Amino acid sequence: MTLLRDQYLAEIGIPVWRARGTAAISPPASPELAIEAATTALAGAAQASDAWSELQAKVRACTLCGLHRGRTQTVFGVGRRDASLFVIGEAPGADEDRQGEPFVGRAGQLLNAMLRSIGLPRSEVYIANILKCRPPNNRDPEPSESTSCTPYLSRQIELVGPRVLLAVGRIAAQWLLQTDTPIGRLRGRVTSYGAQNTPLVVTYHPAYLLRSPLDKAKAWTDLCLVKELLSRSS
Ligand code: URA
Repeated sequence: MTLLRDQYLAEIGIPVWRARGTAAISPPASPELAIEAATTALAGAAQASDAWSELQAKVRACTLCGLHRGRTQTVFGVGRRDASLFVIGEAPGADEDRQGEPFVGRAGQLLNAMLRSIGLPRSEVYIANILKCRPPNNRDPEPSESTSCTPYLSRQIELVGPRVLLAVGRIAAQWLLQTDTPIGRLRGRVTSYGAQNTPLVVTYHPAYLLRSPLDKAKAWTDLCLVKELLSRSS
């Protein structure tokens, strides 16, 4: 019925807009309604953009923990601000600290390939870390550092509103789930995170997979689980 209606509308030159992953939206009934809808959408977009700028400025100026003293720059996050999938890593390394973007080193290359394997290029997802500043010598984050930094990540998740979260690595997974359960028992299933109870999948960190390629097969099953969740909720 909808298809037939769309066909008719197309034939008479009325555009049919489709929001990502939803059914067709009929054009507004009048020019006034169209203008009102466009104005509301623009106001919403402007508000979201203000919220992002405000958050970015806060992170850039952050001195809540000692890591700010050693950073070249903060590593905020990258990707689509309306992404369905939000990838969460641990903390910037040397390459990320230099370039100001998460997952740009060798581990980042593998992460990109992992995402591509489920049909999601890096540009389609949002990627951020628990910590926005590099710990010295890539040591594990201190709990106090993660505590200070997590509100930034939570706000990013709130603004993006992803359908699925993917935690890569033991540190990110254990912190988000507030557990010391080994990663081998956290991966391979769906848990949830945050006020919205967003579905969360855990997998191995790509840096670990570079050292332990035999576990790539398990990571692949985790990615398939992500894909399944995304297709279920679309
Ligand atoms: N490892 C992470 O967890 N995050 C990065 O940004 C880079 C490496």
